[in-house]
Amino acid sequence: MAQNPLTRRKVDAELSASTPSGASPQQPAIAFDRVTVSYGRGKNSTDALRDFTLRVSRGETVALLGPSGSGKSTALKSLAGFVRPTAGRVRLSGNDITDLPPARRGIGVVVQSYALFPHMRVRDNVAFGLRARKLSKREVGERVEEALGMVSMSEYGSRLPRELSGGQQQRVAIARALAIKPDVLLLDEPLAALDAALRQTMVGELQRLRDALPDTTMLYVTHDQTEALALADRIGVMRDARLVDIGTTDELWSRPPSGFTASFLGGANLLPCKVGRVSGATALVEVGEKMLSATAPEPMSRWTPGLPAHLCIRPHEIEVTAVGAQRSLRARVTTSVWRGASTRLTLAVDGLPDQLIDADVAGRADHPVDEVVGVRLPDPAGTLVDTAGGPR
Ligand code: ADP
Ligand code: MG
Repeated sequence: MAQNPLTRRKVDAELSASTPSGASPQQPAIAFDRVTVSYGRGKNSTDALRDFTLRVSRGETVALLGPSGSGKSTALKSLAGFVRPTAGRVRLSGNDITDLPPARRGIGVVVQSYALFPHMRVRDNVAFGLRARKLSKREVGERVEEALGMVSMSEYGSRLPRELSGGQQQRVAIARALAIKPDVLLLDEPLAALDAALRQTMVGELQRLRDALPDTTMLYVTHDQTEALALADRIGVMRDARLVDIGTTDELWSRPPSGFTASFLGGANLLPCKVGRVSGATALVEVGEKMLSATAPEPMSRWTPGLPAHLCIRPHEIEVTAVGAQRSLRARVTTSVWRGASTRLTLAVDGLPDQLIDADVAGRADHPVDEVVGVRLPDPAGTLVDTAGGPR
């Protein structure tokens, strides 16, 4: 796919920020330098991770977000030492660890499947990483209790993993990772095996943990945008083995640099449009037969009149009204799916041909298929998104 020029610039900036060697407090806690991981050989070789560059500051939480198979776990494993990069280097606080065995990296790792030892009691599972470190028995005991306390599992030290719920097992896995007091904590879809209600609780717990460990740097892999938004300072969006966008949660949500990121982070209507007159941070855009106003994100110089782009409109920002209501467009309902707290309507809007629009209305909306309704777009109607980074 065409590389998003914004992303390209960010990658270059990240690279030029690197210095050749030596640890210092100014060094990022985590650095990936153009890491590529290929599986297989010759004709059958595939890149699971391609030219991956990322810096994470001390104490920062970065989420890697992307669909299944996009290379998220491979990135995390290359830092943990579970896979060897075909090219590129990984560093912790400026120290090149690419050739170090996993156990000597001092990284805490939590995976989706918990990976607890089934025959060991909770306390021994948590102590496992400590026993190899020649700590006194008392010190091990104290660290285990402290780690169990951090995940509210102090009462369960004598249980076996099978005597715990999935959520409790995952807390033990987190405690085990924390017991070694790692500077860097890697979490690979830690909540994916839990049911929705428990996931919500655990996101709250992870937020508390993150705030209780302000110096711990976290890399959190997920395909779930709500987890990424709730936990991360910045989000890196992965697609087809590459990091395609990186930014603060707020930047990526309100000014998505690409159509892919707009859709993946929160769902979006992406309407092909043509940029018209630009004034300040607002542009007039031509969508079908309509002229709409759009927020034009920085850098402004790229939004030149006549440029093809996409207009990103979030489904929950669209209002469904009576036909003929002020500032409304006429539309026909093509599908209506109740989702509990909201109903998703798909609408064919007059004047916006060849494009169905999703709108989320609160509660259980009584708009049967084929009903004709009014649709009021927000003002500005949406945010301009580069076509270069847009959907294929
Ligand atoms: P994600 O975590 O984003 O779902 P992964 O990093 O696990 O993605 O995988 C990225 C790509 O690499 C996928 O296409 C996957 O099939 C492939 N892959 C992962 N592990 C291996 C392996 N051990 N051997 C061959 N291919 C692999
Ligand atoms: Mg994975």
